[in-house]
Amino acid sequence: MELKICANTLCNSAFESKNAKKKFCSIRCKNQAAYMYNQKHYAWEAKMKKSRWKNIQILEYLLMQGHSKISLEQLKIMGFDFTAAHIPHKDENNFQVFQYGNIGMRIVSKTDCELFNIKTK
Ligand SMILES: [Zn+2]
Repeated sequence: MELKICANTLCNSAFESKNAKKKFCSIRCKNQAAYMYNQKHYAWEAKMKKSRWKNIQILEYLLMQGHSKISLEQLKIMGFDFTAAHIPHKDENNFQVFQYGNIGMRIVSKTDCELFNIKTK
């Protein structure tokens, strides 16, 4: 047994381990340290990921409520983040289509978009 100090800076607890490679006192500390590392070194990616999930939730809510056409302004008011987009593809009518989770967002004019479910296997 070797006495060690947990490498999670928020913990710093002493712990014993037979494994020389073990740096954290628990799986929780290991996960927390990884989370903090990503927040610090990949802040933009973490923000985008969070924004995309919020966007997905907004679109799923709207579709569930039966709103398949909505203004871009309304989406903005609801907190939709247009910067958290992947590059859109063009459909057969040359409209831009963005994908958020299993929902497609077709930009049909400068002010409006249509929402539709993307079929998954
Ligand atoms: Zn710990």
